[in-house]
Amino acid sequence: MTRVMAQVGMVMNLDKCIGCHTCSVTCKQTWTNRTGVEYVWFNNVETRPGLGYPKRHEDQEQWKGGWVRTKRGRLKLRSGGRIRRLTQIFSNPKLPSLDDYYEPWTYDYDTLISSPAMDTTPVARPKSMITGKDTEIRWGANWDDDLGGTHERGHLDPMLKGIEDSVVFELEKAFMFYLPRICEHCLNPACVAACPSGAMYKRSEDGIVLVDQDRCRGWRMCVSGCPYKKVYFNHKTGKAEKCTFCYPRLEVGQPTVCAETCVGRLRYIGLFLYDVDKVLAAASVEDDKDLYEAQLDVLLDPNDPEVVAQARRDGIADDWIEAAQKSPVYTLAKKYRLALPLHPEYRTMPMVWYIPPLSPVVDALANSGHDAEDAGNLFGAIDALRIPIGYLANLLTAGDVPVVDGVLKRLAAMRSYMRDINLGRDTDESIAEAV
Ligand code: SF4
Ligand code: SF4
Repeated sequence: MTRVMAQVGMVMNLDKCIGCHTCSVTCKQTWTNRTGVEYVWFNNVETRPGLGYPKRHEDQEQWKGGWVRTKRGRLKLRSGGRIRRLTQIFSNPKLPSLDDYYEPWTYDYDTLISSPAMDTTPVARPKSMITGKDTEIRWGANWDDDLGGTHERGHLDPMLKGIEDSVVFELEKAFMFYLPRICEHCLNPACVAACPSGAMYKRSEDGIVLVDQDRCRGWRMCVSGCPYKKVYFNHKTGKAEKCTFCYPRLEVGQPTVCAETCVGRLRYIGLFLYDVDKVLAAASVEDDKDLYEAQLDVLLDPNDPEVVAQARRDGIADDWIEAAQKSPVYTLAKKYRLALPLHPEYRTMPMVWYIPPLSPVVDALANSGHDAEDAGNLFGAIDALRIPIGYLANLLTAGDVPVVDGVLKRLAAMRSYMRDINLGRDTDESIAEAV
């Protein structure tokens, strides 16, 4: 046992997200309802498959985010590291443009009233909030479900790479789900390492990653460095801004705005205890597919007496240790292994975890005529899930299909077990052993 630190984390259960965007809107109203950050969404909800926000943010070859492992086993920022000379600002890796985020727009409702008589009903046209001119909207983070062009746009999603053959673009095989995203408050944050001014920092008490507005000089290396593209440039102040995990609310015992207002009640907030001395080694493991297990290994059991004793020696207060013990995030991520980190291959050790969507089991549905949730019906049907496991694996485990398969089986078992209890039927205790 080495040094113990505390880290806030979030687990989101993707089966429960209905894509209502309440989280995004309440976050925006609280934090980015200002000029200079019109295009900014600290919290956004993407339709997947799809291009995301900003557009194709997962394409690190283009945006140069995250860490790469050198042949000698060290970690190197893909964006090239800190600016040490002024001239290096000109070699700042390509940054997403407004078109890659989206041009903020509002409807011009005047057209509904002032339009001359026409054969069809007049339509409120989208107008740019910046230029005031009509816009031609060509894409968006929710393009696919807003405009029904699922596979024309969706097939460009890089997470479909390698599984194109198994995804037949036919109506009955179409799939989609929502992916809510905030800053990952990474254990090994590329944004902090990339900042030449020392303005980006990770709070030692709870691991929240923040930008010191007085120190930020607007270099934007953090925007390039963050592989999740969750640092934004305020065009009015000339400074970087990002999700703060609502720390002013956390400090008075309130949850984040996104969690409090989430309609699906799918966001679980809590405190991890972790071994800080294992972080760099875990982030540098050779094979991307080992990153999930390495990341789990860093998380410590808050109920283990040895961990508690070391946490006390490392200055973590008893009420924080108690908070970690009561926290759902360790239980969901490590004890039950139900939640997975988003893109561990970026090697930033993200701390927002996702329970993958189980989704309808299409074949079982078709054959049994009911919703396929009875015991015994689910295990054989995991391969018939509507969302291809390969897609989820590319998103959540750097392509490790067996890990996602195990999670989905555990979810299916829990669902089946709870259904028996709720229906007053005898429970099948062998289900637990099966997974
Ligand atoms: Fe930094 Fe957040 Fe990006 Fe991680 S997700 S690199 S903490 S901005
Ligand atoms: Fe999904 Fe909750 Fe956000 Fe609605 S509020 S989009 S259910 S995460």
